Amino acid sequence: MNPAQKTMSPLDPVHTHMRLVGSQTQALKKLGVSLVRDLLYHFPTRYGEAITPKNIATLTVGDKALVRGKLLKLEKTKAFRKKIPLTRAELHDASGKIRVVWFHQPYLAEMLREGEFLDLTGKVTQDAKGLYLANPESEHRPGTSLSATGNLLGENVRPDTETAMQPIYPESRGITSRWFFYALKKVLSQNVHKALEDPIPEEILKKYHLPSLHTALVWIHNPKKATDAEAARKRFAFEEIFLLQIERQRTRRSYRAHTSFPIAPKEKDVHEFLARLPFSLTAAQEKAVGHILADFKKPAPMSRLLEGDVGSGKTAVAATTAWSVVTSRPIGQNFGNLQVALMAPTEILARQHFDSFVNYFAHLPISLGLITGSGCKKFPSKIDPREATAISHAQLLKWVASGEIAFLVGTHALIQKKVQFKNLAYTIIDEQHRFGTMQRFALRKKEGPVPHLLSMTATPIPRTLALTIYGDLDLSLLDEMPPGRKPVITKIVPPSARSAVYEEMRGELSRGRQAYIVCPKIEVGEGKLEVKNVTDEAARLKKEVFPEYTIAILHSKIKPREREEIMERFLAKEIDILVCTSVIEVGVSVPNATLIVIEGAERFGLAQLHQFRGRVLRSTTQAFCYLMADAKGARAKDRLKAIESAGSGFALAELDLKMRGPGELSGRKQWGISDLGMEAIRNIKMVEAARLEATALVEKDPELKNYPLLLERVGRAASAVHLE
Ligand code: ADP
Ligand code: MG
Repeated sequence: MNPAQKTMSPLDPVHTHMRLVGSQTQALKKLGVSLVRDLLYHFPTRYGEAITPKNIATLTVGDKALVRGKLLKLEKTKAFRKKIPLTRAELHDASGKIRVVWFHQPYLAEMLREGEFLDLTGKVTQDAKGLYLANPESEHRPGTSLSATGNLLGENVRPDTETAMQPIYPESRGITSRWFFYALKKVLSQNVHKALEDPIPEEILKKYHLPSLHTALVWIHNPKKATDAEAARKRFAFEEIFLLQIERQRTRRSYRAHTSFPIAPKEKDVHEFLARLPFSLTAAQEKAVGHILADFKKPAPMSRLLEGDVGSGKTAVAATTAWSVVTSRPIGQNFGNLQVALMAPTEILARQHFDSFVNYFAHLPISLGLITGSGCKKFPSKIDPREATAISHAQLLKWVASGEIAFLVGTHALIQKKVQFKNLAYTIIDEQHRFGTMQRFALRKKEGPVPHLLSMTATPIPRTLALTIYGDLDLSLLDEMPPGRKPVITKIVPPSARSAVYEEMRGELSRGRQAYIVCPKIEVGEGKLEVKNVTDEAARLKKEVFPEYTIAILHSKIKPREREEIMERFLAKEIDILVCTSVIEVGVSVPNATLIVIEGAERFGLAQLHQFRGRVLRSTTQAFCYLMADAKGARAKDRLKAIESAGSGFALAELDLKMRGPGELSGRKQWGISDLGMEAIRNIKMVEAARLEATALVEKDPELKNYPLLLERVGRAASAVHLE
């Protein structure tokens, strides 16, 4: 049966309607396209000029041309001497014919069919026998079938004038933009899109002048004019953000439907605790503490995000608020205390947190615990009340379950089912971006009150993005640094000044300091050759520049366990120079490291560079950050200048969003948002509108009873994110 004849519906797998070879199936899978519906939602990233097909008779040597015709004399052989797989054929159109040769592409032979109509794009080459197309890209046109195009070639040679704006689709090895172009033409021409129902309520479309789903699908894939494409993109961006907001608002609502532990410390007591600190809180810290304590008094559980640069004092905020919890009694009890749990992404960080909280709480009559994959600790020790001591896992679990340990710090080991708290009233998560996990963590208990939730992050993100991805959380910002910090001296270094940087580095190292060197790649082989990689750079530095110092490497291909060991050794000053990739972004505080060199700085985002710099931000010693850059373009230079002069991570994150082009925002990887959605994030009005409408809708109909399509889409989006 000819697959083109079957009626197509959105939920059909793509392969039931389009002939696919193995590499294409793989590529589609990688792009997340399996159903016809996914094809419709595979949007172009931009639009280019349409390439006009040429008549074969007019081709001249050296042309890079698109020709369209019938494939004849298909022959699969091996090259005469070298046994290279070779496929030969001829392409015929009404004006003439040309030879076609593919070397080294045996899978092509599998895909091509004698007598079919093809688009070939390739270079016109010449040999003794005349012109031929060498290794052209071939596109079987899903829209064309023999019966549909009649018996011969004439009409097919005419330029394809219907698409003045040629959509350019995201590609993957094995599948081209043109494939999508033809596939979508076929899908749209069969009106498959009309079988999809619009999830966005009509009132909302009207209110914001957004095109309907059917119109927008045609406009985005096959626009007649630029304004149509733009309107369609706007609509789908709105759709994405709106759906995301509905999901977040529903999470928020269901979380708040629980009761929590009312905690109301007296103002006087809070001041007493603060008076013990060796510093006074910044205005931003005070405000954040105020937000949290106010939330504690409410009957519903808090869910709040505390965002602040490295060193802005998030831990002090966590400590002050945690203090008010561990000094509160469980409901209806005049003995014992409520419990706090703090989760950190790595073992070293967990240990550093444990030490800080021991410092903050040593004067209180409570115990603190630490749980990690490699062991447990308790403070105070029975023998020495000023020290922590190692205890068994079983013992720790017992003390957590009995409420004896009031404050438990840990890694993911904290989330294990075995860890049962008596009265967990407050959970704090450090640097955890996945809020799905976070809420599941807090909700683990089947019944009883739900703990208040605080998530802390040093990843500065723009306000619009925060509103979108953390739509279920309230936001507190630490947008000011404690007084007296010396700003890191930041310099952009051209290639010619490299050795001067090494001399300064030598000076710091000889004073007993340590340094980070960040490279964009792990090893050769990824991307461009001239971009520095960790492996070779470390070897080169050891051999040519710093033979007298201990150099180690750190990157994501090293196992987490070993990575932690390396960080431990760096912290213990057994390593002088750490050559690493961006893995240090979320990291440990190594106060003695005062210098950071960032290779290929133009390749990193501003917010990311700022994060790197945060690694050497210490109060007492002057720190240095060198941005090694070969930035040629004005745009790249401007970006780096911004980091040289700018202060707060938030300002930089906003700037980053503005300065980066589409496709450079990598929202999908980091936040689960498509490129199109990321474009929308630049538009505060749209984000606010989506949030407003989503909140209103969830308020009115939390179960989405009257919006089954929305319910289905929200569920689908959520499961896609969790599968990542
Ligand atoms: P973050 O977790 O945001 O990176 P921390 O809470 O670890 O920051 O604080 C960094 C350092 O600054 C700590 O040594 C802490 O004692 C100190 N610190 C915190 N708040 C203040 C403040 N208001 N004034 C002075 N120093 C502070
Ligand atoms: Mg911290």
